Amino acid sequence: MKGKHNFSAGPGILPAEVIKEAAAGVLNINNTGLSILEVSHRDKDFMAIMEEARSLVKELMGLGNDYKVLFLGGGASLQFAMVPSNLLATGGTAAYLDTGVWAHKAIKEAKMVGNVNIIASSENEKYNHIPKNITIPTDASYLHITSNNTIYGTQMHHFPDSPIPVVCDMSSDIFSRRMDFSKFDLIYAGAQKNMGAAGATMVIVKESILGKTGRKMFSMLDYQVHIKGESMYNTPPVFSVYVCMLTMQWLKKNGGLAWIEGINRKKAELMYSEIDRNSLFTGTVVKEDRSWMNATFLLTKAELEETFNKMWKEAGIVGIKGHRDVGGYRASMYNALTIEDVQALVDVMKELEKKNG
Ligand SMILES: *Cc1c(COP(=O)(O)O)cnc(C)c1O
Repeated sequence: MKGKHNFSAGPGILPAEVIKEAAAGVLNINNTGLSILEVSHRDKDFMAIMEEARSLVKELMGLGNDYKVLFLGGGASLQFAMVPSNLLATGGTAAYLDTGVWAHKAIKEAKMVGNVNIIASSENEKYNHIPKNITIPTDASYLHITSNNTIYGTQMHHFPDSPIPVVCDMSSDIFSRRMDFSKFDLIYAGAQKNMGAAGATMVIVKESILGKTGRKMFSMLDYQVHIKGESMYNTPPVFSVYVCMLTMQWLKKNGGLAWIEGINRKKAELMYSEIDRNSLFTGTVVKEDRSWMNATFLLTKAELEETFNKMWKEAGIVGIKGHRDVGGYRASMYNALTIEDVQALVDVMKELEKKNG
């Protein structure tokens, strides 16, 4: 919002014009005289919003009709349970890459459904990197990875070729860069980090991998039920889907993923070059795995904490306090954050060094 530099990890910053349009839709959607908050999800105005949101996802990611797009409730955390329920063969094993808190939570749920093979983990190094040279077991039902580790500030910049279906939690870097999305068989992302208002979780799934476990499932946990219902099996998170659609329209209008990737790359370069240059700060992650979305860093002189905190708050910076598991600071630089916002933080870091370095 105006005058603030919002580095919050999630719910995170949204484009100002999207917030404005969303506010207009709350008052009057499509000149119907009704609020988006009070229209039926079966109404043609909302059906068109859902339809456009689903087709924009495929357009932005360059995916074909073999993929289905859903907007579900329950957060990315519900996907930790839905993925194994729908994909883990009865008596079978699923492969997981353990890259931090969210991967860990996904593993915990999968263990309720079947066997889990943790093929690699960076836990012993406090998740400061992405495990490399992994071997993917050919007999597992699927491989689960987390593309961006919101808490530890690591991001996968290379994706393995996999002999088995790949499931990816993209909650905190969805739509942030170009990628060959056809490498993935299922992608999920909570809306509130980089895509829209909290409430909806986007799921993109290749239909051909479903229906193979023989497991009986609750309807609400069954992707096939939601696909058949065109993401309207039950009342979808209407307002959240609306904001996701507006954000995707904003992305498309400005040049899509190629455009936002260029901006995100520049923001990350600006942020990390200051962390590396400034004697008062140090990054927590190995360089090649640094996240473009969440930059985690520490003060080298702990006694300056109070001074620094006061300075960035006075500069209108919001949300850079680190996660309790890592400490220090975390600057989340989601799509809507501008280079100028990052520059404001860099300026404060320089100022701190000038006075105390
Ligand atoms: C925030 C986050 C989650 C959890 O999302 P909820 O929508 O709160 O359930 C899962 N995975 C990643 C990578 C996240 O950043």
